[in-house]
Amino acid sequence: MAKILIVGGSLGGLFAANILLRQGQDVLLLEKASGSLDGRGAGIVTHDALADALREAGIRIDENLGVKVSKRVTLGADGSSLGEMDLTQTLTSWSRLYQLLKENFSSERYLQGKTVKTVSQDADKVYVDCEDGSNYSADLLIASDGIRSAVRAQVAPAVGPEYAGYIAWRGVCDEGCLSKYTLDTLFNYFGFCLPNGEQMLGYPVAGSGNNTRVGSRRYNFVWYRPASEEDELIKLLSDADGHHYPTGIPPAKVSWQHIHSMRSAAREILAPQYAEILEKTPAPFLQAIYDVRSEQIVFGRIALMGDAAFVGRPHVGMGVTKAGDEAMCIAKHISLLGAVPAALDAYSVERLHLGQQVVARAQYLGRYMQAQGAKGNRDGESLKRNADTVMAETAVDISSLLAAGKAVPVAAATL
Ligand SMILES: Cc1cc2nc3c(=O)[nH]c(=O)nc-3n(C[C@H](O)[C@H](O)[C@H](O)COP(=O)(O)OP(=O)(O)OC[C@H]3O[C@@H](n4cnc5c(N)ncnc54)[C@H](O)[C@@H]3O)c2cc1C
Repeated sequence: MAKILIVGGSLGGLFAANILLRQGQDVLLLEKASGSLDGRGAGIVTHDALADALREAGIRIDENLGVKVSKRVTLGADGSSLGEMDLTQTLTSWSRLYQLLKENFSSERYLQGKTVKTVSQDADKVYVDCEDGSNYSADLLIASDGIRSAVRAQVAPAVGPEYAGYIAWRGVCDEGCLSKYTLDTLFNYFGFCLPNGEQMLGYPVAGSGNNTRVGSRRYNFVWYRPASEEDELIKLLSDADGHHYPTGIPPAKVSWQHIHSMRSAAREILAPQYAEILEKTPAPFLQAIYDVRSEQIVFGRIALMGDAAFVGRPHVGMGVTKAGDEAMCIAKHISLLGAVPAALDAYSVERLHLGQQVVARAQYLGRYMQAQGAKGNRDGESLKRNADTVMAETAVDISSLLAAGKAVPVAAATL
């Protein structure tokens, strides 16, 4: 039994911790937050690989994992359908996955209030110092400490988040407060709306208490809007008193003036169904969209995974699935080769290029969105073509496309 330290107790870290513990390793997880992480995050698109990772973590999957949709629809600004596509997917939520993974893991091995400050290694071990003065050693360390990873900052200081030029407004709206029109024409679908250079998408998720019953669900939306880095982004990441949160504004601090302007814009440029959802969402929040692309994910006895290794813009809907895949891959090589650097090297061989492809694919989808309308081609034909492309390419599993030998475009978009 080898000693393995996991840094970060969100979904990526919990996938790795659960799978390695089941394999019989002596796992200890260090998480910075001292309270529960639950309540953050919104909707998550699931792919087959996510279900595989949950099973490997020892979690039984049933219909309560999320809400199933069978169709995608794109709405025009007047609310009519511009196109539809059959595609069955289960949509779940960050809290549901967190709850399943956290309950399944040993609470004595999940240490909270542990902010990892420094990592170092010698020929035999890896060492960790935390801000509270505690320190730990292990055979291997797996860093799943997110987009601003402290571990990555030490082992690969040149890599960091790069702003994509746009933000996403996000939130969830109770099904019970929506009009029959919106329920009938949008609620049960994975829906899109494509204003010039922007993109709104949404889908139904479980409601309070992970309730998936009709009448108790919620609609999760993500609205991508351009925001210049030097000006608009700073304003959006500042609260109503002018306090700026450069690494992300807490949901409760988002300025009411910005929410007001966002809802006004929604009434002007989005389908009325989406305008209603935004009007009735009690606490919309926003996130800047970033890319993180690593050139190296293994450094001796230290491996980066999840958002610490790569962040693909959410258009690919791959963040959690990718973290689950990477956790399974690390565990597979440790079980084959033991808890030694060679196992991590084998993980890198299998996943480095794929992670880079996920980032490139997400950038391609982002560029496609930004280019929409930029060439004055908002006639009915091009709108329809955009709708068909966006519905076919958004939030589909890139690993399964590659496994099926399908082309995965990553080059600049042409409209
Ligand atoms: C708008 C939007 C929509 C998205 N939609 C989807 C989707 O549909 N599907 C999908 O799969 N993904 C989606 N994602 C991405 C997804 O949320 C993440 O990719 C996923 O949770 C994997 O992240 P992680 O566990 O590696 O890191 P994180 O979730 O960022 O967790 C990092 C953890 O490390 C802890 N930590 C940080 N620093 C330290 C430290 N120094 N010491 C100890 N602990 C530390 C943090 O407290 C945190 O708990 C979306 C993201 C955005 C922005």
